[in-house]
Amino acid sequence: ENFTNFGFSEALLQGIYEVGYVKPSKVQAAALPIIAGKPGEPGQSIMAQAQNGSGKTAAFTLAVLSMLRIQDDWPQAIVVCPTRELAKQNQQVMKNLGTALEVKTQLVCPSGPDDPERCPSNPRSHVLIGTPGKLSDLAKKRIIDCRGVKTLVLDEADVMLSESNQMGSQIHQIRRMLQDDPLQVLFFSATFPDDVRKFGTGLIPSSKGIKV
Ligand code: AMP
Repeated sequence: ENFTNFGFSEALLQGIYEVGYVKPSKVQAAALPIIAGKPGEPGQSIMAQAQNGSGKTAAFTLAVLSMLRIQDDWPQAIVVCPTRELAKQNQQVMKNLGTALEVKTQLVCPSGPDDPERCPSNPRSHVLIGTPGKLSDLAKKRIIDCRGVKTLVLDEADVMLSESNQMGSQIHQIRRMLQDDPLQVLFFSATFPDDVRKFGTGLIPSSKGIKV
């Protein structure tokens, strides 16, 4: 497999090579064609079992960057993470891979200097990256605009479901603010105990499973 097989734009390929990736990792090679879909067919949602270190962050980051319309200055993807720390790391990966695309990202986490509730003058971003509580709160208050969101990423879903018993319902609240079609859900978890699997299938009516 090669990064040129996924129909990525020149700007996205440039970002990949600048970051220094030469070949897709296993999870990237498995996930990206399913997310992109066959020619003439819509892409699919996925539930992927992938450990830290497998390249899962770049897998969903590249999927998100490849579907953005940069000329549209509104949120098109939401990445939900268990902690502010992970959200910041994911934002950095998004910025690095998306440099040549000029992607704009916004962290949506509680009580930081970058909290969109405190900085209403922030430019409208293409990708929102944050934690379930703040994302669901600001979506309900319409401080963040979810009408153009076509991709929902859940990172470390198993951690989110075990971290607090509210995060599951907050994720459902975010999901309910999004359109049904088109919507792709990219569900990543290191482990798939019954409750995580049930949560995933409840959130995504039809998805393709990947295990690496
Ligand atoms: P993750 O599984 O997201 O925690 O990523 C683990 C590490 O793999 C990170 O340091 C990434 O920069 C790196 N990585 C991700 N994709 C690739 C790739 N295709 N080639 C080389 N390194 C990669």
